[in-house]
Amino acid sequence: MEQTTVSLPLCNSCGRPVKPGERAAKFSCPNCHETLIWRCEKCRKFSRHYKCTNCGFEGP
Ligand SMILES: [Zn+2]
Ligand SMILES: [Zn+2]
Repeated sequence: MEQTTVSLPLCNSCGRPVKPGERAAKFSCPNCHETLIWRCEKCRKFSRHYKCTNCGFEGP
């Protein structure tokens, strides 16, 4: 089995790696626009809160 060493993005809500192909959401922080926020499929489904690692902005 071949495995590439691509580091998976981490979900900003639960901290789990977001697998390729997962219906995750990715968007830049609405406050500082500098950090890319990732939310995995589960966190989207449960509308978990995320926190920007750059400015500390919290949002749904
Ligand atoms: Zn998550
Ligand atoms: Zn931010």
